[in-house]
Amino acid sequence: MKFPDGFEKRMKIQMESEWSSLKEALESEPPVSIRYNPLKFQKQQNEFSVPWCKDGFYLPQRPIFTLDPLLHAGAYYVQEASSMLIEKAINFISGDNEPKRVLDLCAAPGGKSTHLLSLLNSNSLLVSNEVIQTRVPVLIENLTKWGYQNSIVTNLDPKIFARLEGFFDIILVDAPCSGEGLFRKDPKAMNEWSEENASNCALRQTRILNDILPSLRPGGFIIYSTCTYNPSENQDQLQKMSNHHEMTSIQLDLVEKYGVLELSSNGIYGYQCIPNKTKGEGFFMGVMQKKSGEIKDHKINKKLNISIPKTIDSSQWLSESDNYVIFENHENEFSFIKKSLQHDVEIILSHIPVKKIGTHFITLKGKNILPTHGLALSVCKSPGLPTIEVPLQEALEYLRKNNLNIEYPGDGWKIVNYQGNALGWVNATSGRFNNKLPMEFRIRTL
Ligand code: SAM
Repeated sequence: MKFPDGFEKRMKIQMESEWSSLKEALESEPPVSIRYNPLKFQKQQNEFSVPWCKDGFYLPQRPIFTLDPLLHAGAYYVQEASSMLIEKAINFISGDNEPKRVLDLCAAPGGKSTHLLSLLNSNSLLVSNEVIQTRVPVLIENLTKWGYQNSIVTNLDPKIFARLEGFFDIILVDAPCSGEGLFRKDPKAMNEWSEENASNCALRQTRILNDILPSLRPGGFIIYSTCTYNPSENQDQLQKMSNHHEMTSIQLDLVEKYGVLELSSNGIYGYQCIPNKTKGEGFFMGVMQKKSGEIKDHKINKKLNISIPKTIDSSQWLSESDNYVIFENHENEFSFIKKSLQHDVEIILSHIPVKKIGTHFITLKGKNILPTHGLALSVCKSPGLPTIEVPLQEALEYLRKNNLNIEYPGDGWKIVNYQGNALGWVNATSGRFNNKLPMEFRIRTL
């Protein structure tokens, strides 16, 4: 592999004797890994487990993921193993398993947001933000597949979050970076690399962190991560948070167990995965804690619209429906979120614009109640909803939005299941199946 000169020159100095074995590892095939959705698919840990992630597994080779219906059912997420290391930071911060208010600031396409949802207490609220508008749909799509209700999606510049002063217990900043850790997996990252680009990334990261820190509550935690080896984008950013914002760096117990490098200086601890030591790509993570202080109260001046028509009986659609507050999100579109989160959601609504709250589960069209794709994929749906189990070929036909060629099950809305996992709805009428998979979710390969 021919690395950019400036990169190789710096890495030789930075990595010292480690560079030759790192370079060798970068010539080898990148491992393939996935992370299961524990509320949809349970797998016992085994010799292929990712050691730092309960639901993470390595695969022997890369399958054609698009042709696996379980991916579309949200039973797993394809994710690079090193980036699953945030699990250890969350375990440390959230060991009490108390509900938390969490912001995933740089969230698209949703790898870490789906991971956070699996790790956090289900009374936690996750705000998944993506600043680039064109990347928001893929984030929403992946969150919909994951099927959790306790999230909000926003499309905001980080500085807008200052309006929610001291609100979040945890903020994950998985920052846009120079991508050096992805050179083996993604040659595009190498072609786009330049020293100038890397320094621009560092400036942008500092700006993002300065912008977002006011919304962290006193005593709260920032998890900062990148997929680069560049110290100016990694340890230096932690150092700046310590110097300018009186934050304390947290030492984690990762080194002995997982082969992660601990980069420590001046009381700042950063954790670097390098492919010759950990089975995954290059990844950096650090955890910083804000000093304690007064906790702020937030006013509410916008409420959820919870006056819903009597015709909507949520117990027909949702399991443990008493736990949820139902609200009209857009005209005739009804969503749900845990009752215990209503107050926090209303604080958020009162301060910043949001794209999506909870799970949109039904739409009213005249007298008809139409269930949504989000309901089919939700982990909160009623187990009593009618389903039809289909074999692989029919599951793929369904996901291509074609007709189904199976025995007619009788009229009505049915959830199409593959290996017990929901793929979406069909509305069966007069001997025909109307495939209700939303266009944007269909697969386009032959
Ligand atoms: N956390 C994501 C995941 O696990 O799937 C990956 C995030 S990616 C490393 C960085 C994200 O930061 C991108 O989605 C990018 O659009 C976003 N981004 C780019 N510029 C940004 C900025 N100025 N402020 C905040 N986010 C930004």
